[in-house]
Amino acid sequence: MGVRVYQLAKELGFSSKELIEKLQGLHVDVKGHMSVLDEETTELIRHEIESTKTATPKIKSEKAAPDKIIKIKFPISVKDLAVKLQVSVNDLIKKLMSFKILANINQVLDEDTLNSIAAKLGVSFERELTEEEALISSHLKGEEKNLVLRSPVVTLMGHVDHGKTSLLDVIRKSKVADKESGGITQHIGAYKVGVLGKTITFLDTPGHEAFTAMRVRGANITDIVIIVVAADDGIMPQTIEAINHAKAANVSMVIAVNKMDAPGADIDNVRRQLAEMDLTCEEWGGKTIVVGVSAKKGTGIEHLLEMILLESEMLELRADPNRPAKGIIIESKLLKESGPAATVLVQNGTLRLGDVFVCGLTCGKIKAMINDRGERVQDAGPATPVEILGLSGVPQVGDTFYVVEDEKKAKEISQKKTETEREQKLIPTQRVSLDQLFQSAQEGQCKELKIILKADVQGSLEALCNSLKELATKDITVKIIHAQVGNINDSDIMLAVASNAVVIGFHVAIDNKAKDEAEKKNIDVRLYRIIYEVINDVRLSMEGLLEPTIKETFLGRAKVLEVFKISNYGTIAGCMIVKGKFIRTAELIRLFRAEQCMYEGKLSSLKRYKDDVKEVGEGLECGIGLDKFMAIQQDDIIECYQIEKIAGRL
Ligand code: GDP
Repeated sequence: MGVRVYQLAKELGFSSKELIEKLQGLHVDVKGHMSVLDEETTELIRHEIESTKTATPKIKSEKAAPDKIIKIKFPISVKDLAVKLQVSVNDLIKKLMSFKILANINQVLDEDTLNSIAAKLGVSFERELTEEEALISSHLKGEEKNLVLRSPVVTLMGHVDHGKTSLLDVIRKSKVADKESGGITQHIGAYKVGVLGKTITFLDTPGHEAFTAMRVRGANITDIVIIVVAADDGIMPQTIEAINHAKAANVSMVIAVNKMDAPGADIDNVRRQLAEMDLTCEEWGGKTIVVGVSAKKGTGIEHLLEMILLESEMLELRADPNRPAKGIIIESKLLKESGPAATVLVQNGTLRLGDVFVCGLTCGKIKAMINDRGERVQDAGPATPVEILGLSGVPQVGDTFYVVEDEKKAKEISQKKTETEREQKLIPTQRVSLDQLFQSAQEGQCKELKIILKADVQGSLEALCNSLKELATKDITVKIIHAQVGNINDSDIMLAVASNAVVIGFHVAIDNKAKDEAEKKNIDVRLYRIIYEVINDVRLSMEGLLEPTIKETFLGRAKVLEVFKISNYGTIAGCMIVKGKFIRTAELIRLFRAEQCMYEGKLSSLKRYKDDVKEVGEGLECGIGLDKFMAIQQDDIIECYQIEKIAGRL
């Protein structure tokens, strides 16, 4: 039984025409794509082509339909990807360059980048789960019948001095401390209180910064947010921030109007302000629960707790206590006597003494567990915080924690994670930006543009919100997740990271810390002074017409001393680097003659004597070839630039 040429071509990833050419090159006599090749010849060709594939790489044409599913672990280095795609590294690098991805052999590519070019490579990528991910997903796949109701996990947020800490304290003192046995509360990062035969878990670090920082780490542990508003002060800037952070995270909110004892306390004023923010209270026909309390006098606390339970019932929070535990680290420290300690909030399953676990980059075996009353316990079920001892290192807050079969497995996973983490660090995180919005929408990755809007006055803020919302197209909708008067601060950037939003400032500045964070986290921050420009930029970006914001950095200048014409090669300019340096891979080269720019493009070669070099410094002579430009003349000036796409206009 032989194989027809077109069948073999398909198997080897060539067109029939290409295969026929190759066969002819191997002196195999073929007439056309229907020709039958005998088994021996086929084997020979397969072998020949497989072995030359690395030397004569081939990447499918851009038009080819994705016919190959390639399983890979993200992120992947260019080198490993080349192996997976069965092409040479050089060819892959060239191909990536044609997609405007500048990558060297060891560079790692992330999932988003690869998915965005998969179709162009004629393949589709499928994520191969890491052992850790497989484990986590098996942890999550609880059997419906084993699920039981669990306690809600609650965080307090609100404006500074509105009484978050006082409320947390009064709830803890009235409920946790067992006064009769003289029990003392232990600060472990969270505590559980009993109400009407049920329990509620409170996280001890109040504020939206901590809440969103957890979300940035992918740890969504809070089920209900208590927004604390002082009755005598009403809604203040940080209250708005807190509400918008909670809304962006899609968590339920209960409003605690504190300081009801204070002179000037006006709960109706707070209700009115809430209604203006689409949080109409139940008394006025809305859905938001608003409870008046006083942390100072201890009044209303019981009612608040009952309301939290009510909200929690509606959420139907469930977990399976009969499986190995999974949780999130909410606090960690290094103790002098007992080494690393951390508080884990168990989210699912039950954690027991002696359990082996992986947690961030560390692992360990539970030696001791201490609850929020300072008592040693044997086990901890869903929504329970416990301090654990027995860690191999200090984990980070927000790290995922889960129990595995044995120590060997734990070590293996944490080692692999360390490696992946190292690779991940090399990848700049891709975030939504106005420059790339249209492309992301086209690739189906972004259907909604989330915006954080800061302006100097309320009037402009409202005008901008209304105009921006009207820009929605059939492909992309616009959602303002946070709009506020004031400078762009750190918390705005955190929210942008957690929600994948862009930040727009109008007549405002950006705080230094926020600026650093935005750069580090790759957040698109844009500052404007004219309303029309904001609207226009967002509109153009949605239509894919926004000019990318690019920054040119001058690298070096060379003077052409002599010109050589080399047959089969073209023109080479013998140059002297008079300033800075030339880099072979520089993104932009310009040639000037009598101060007129005659050419813009790239280098085709950079040599010192006969050797190709990556870089030539000031004061040195070199040979320069320009891509598709032969008319170089003596005394021309050539300049070399680096092009950087920048996140915004900070
Ligand atoms: P946080 O910044 O939101 O954590 O607020 P704190 O809990 O530190 O409280 C700020 C101030 O408000 C403190 O001086 C408290 O004593 C006071 N405070 C807290 N709760 C009440 C209350 O219910 N009534 C009155 N009158 N003062 C309160």
